[in-house]
Amino acid sequence: MDIYGIIFYAFILCLGTTIGSFLNVVIYRFNTGMRFDEGRSMCFSCSKKLEWYELIPLVSFIIQLGRCRKCKSRIAWQYPIVELLTAIVFLLTTYHLGTMYSFDSSVFVMYLVGYMFLWSLCVVMAVYDIRHKMIPSLFVYLSIALAFVLRVVSGAPLTNILIGIVAVALPLWLLYFLSKEKWMGFGDVLIAILMGTVLGFSKGLAALMISFWIGAIYGIVVMLIGKLKNKRTLSLKSALPFGPFLLIALFMVYLFNWTLPIIIEWFA
Ligand SMILES: [Zn+2]
Repeated sequence: MDIYGIIFYAFILCLGTTIGSFLNVVIYRFNTGMRFDEGRSMCFSCSKKLEWYELIPLVSFIIQLGRCRKCKSRIAWQYPIVELLTAIVFLLTTYHLGTMYSFDSSVFVMYLVGYMFLWSLCVVMAVYDIRHKMIPSLFVYLSIALAFVLRVVSGAPLTNILIGIVAVALPLWLLYFLSKEKWMGFGDVLIAILMGTVLGFSKGLAALMISFWIGAIYGIVVMLIGKLKNKRTLSLKSALPFGPFLLIALFMVYLFNWTLPIIIEWFA
């Protein structure tokens, strides 16, 4: 990689942590009646308004060892995790698109901006689902619309997109419908529609299978930990918000281009 490549990746790293910092605000303030652009950020414990040097993504958290400078109360781990996660997702997306297009082409810039928007929405949905056990429909509809535009622009035939949506969303809709929302929420069905839109038929079904595996592995780990702590294990739905698993699988398959035949071959 030449010097310009290094500078570009460094820029994407800074951009990712900064956007991640904004996504934290969106996650905390959505549905609370607070505006996203209103007021400066402050400490939740002592209400101290934060100075600019206390608002540098990741860096401030590390320098202050995760505590407020005034009252020394702990800053939530969600802040640095979402900032770091967003940066990693942006860097991987840049690398992935860089294998297909040259950094100075306008197509590259268009896809990079489009997918950074899309994955930002996905980060918000995943973290929101973990916190509140639900996914706001607004974010899903926005991401589906954006994904649809990106796919149409990339030249995917409309029938392919629609077949992908039906193939991926139908199994989850059946689980949702037959279990009367016990196994699946409607938010999960909407995420499956997003999956089908972004990935199409073959990669979409591969992502769906991977999300079930991730969910199963997570479920087993949670049950084992519950056993160890001698707690009553949680019921399936309360223990497993499924949205994050779907979104992790979606991003993994986007990066690695795993299709259904590839997934089946792993077991053949
Ligand atoms: Zn404080």
